[in-house]
Amino acid sequence: SFTTRASAQPLKNADELIDSVETFIFDCDGVIWKGDKLIDGVPETLELLRSKGKRLVFVTNNSTKSRKQYGKKFETLGLNVNEEEIFASSFAAAAYLKSINFPKDKKIYVIGEDGIIKEVELAGFQYFGGPEDGEKKIELKPGFRMEHDENVGAVVVGFDRYFNYYKVQYATLCIRENPGCLFIATNRDAVTHLTDVQEWAGGGSMVGAISGSTQREPLVVGKPSTFMMDYLATKFGITKSQICMVGDRLDTDILFGQNGGCKTLLVLSGVTTLSMLQNPKNTIQPDFYTNKISDFLSLRAA
Ligand code: PLP
Ligand code: CA
Repeated sequence: SFTTRASAQPLKNADELIDSVETFIFDCDGVIWKGDKLIDGVPETLELLRSKGKRLVFVTNNSTKSRKQYGKKFETLGLNVNEEEIFASSFAAAAYLKSINFPKDKKIYVIGEDGIIKEVELAGFQYFGGPEDGEKKIELKPGFRMEHDENVGAVVVGFDRYFNYYKVQYATLCIRENPGCLFIATNRDAVTHLTDVQEWAGGGSMVGAISGSTQREPLVVGKPSTFMMDYLATKFGITKSQICMVGDRLDTDILFGQNGGCKTLLVLSGVTTLSMLQNPKNTIQPDFYTNKISDFLSLRAA
């Protein structure tokens, strides 16, 4: 069935929204920070919500850091956030493998940076790959074949600035030669803002390469897939209609909230502009939109 959503409304009364939910899930880049720079008014806004007894959860599709590493980032930015409140797509990959009781005697081949490595290690899984394979090269001499470990039961793919053909071929062998091998993606973001002046190829580009060679679709654990939302709802015992998902991106954050049956708030402090939101071609409409989360401090009931 097809349902049309009403156009997003500008947020007028933040107290009404705040009172209507018990949990806020915040996307990180574009909402809390931009790269390494804190967005204006964030500490005060989080304090306001905490003083009102709201549960705060932070979700990011950026798999390059682990939960612990994000904990440090929040601390460095002067934010009072507990590690247990942080859910990165790197953490989600390990949580997913735990949730399906991925065997401890099988191995995980990782394409990605340190975040995924740290999380699968912490979860007690056997793994290899990651940054370590960044320097590996293939010499294509006649008769050469690449060997692979037949005990690899899952390939996890995330954003990887050290991506190369060795990794593509290795992951491809693991998946193609073992029909039972899982293909897990942390996220499929098309682009990301590594610098403030340009869009850069995102995690979706690495996932797309492996999908292209294996002709398989990955299981995505990051936004907008429902895995993290279900995980959070179960973990904290939250009713999804009691959640407001706050994000700057329509096809990940807002869709993630809508897939979960949550209230949604788009902030314009990241990658989406008002004209993108209002473009007739855009079909993803959040419930509300506002410039930045610190608008919660000014849009109070009189
Ligand atoms: N993936 C990468 C590699 C990134 O650099 C970013 C943003 O910085 C993201 C994903 C998106 O992160 P978020 O979900 O916090 O907006
Ligand atoms: Ca974002």
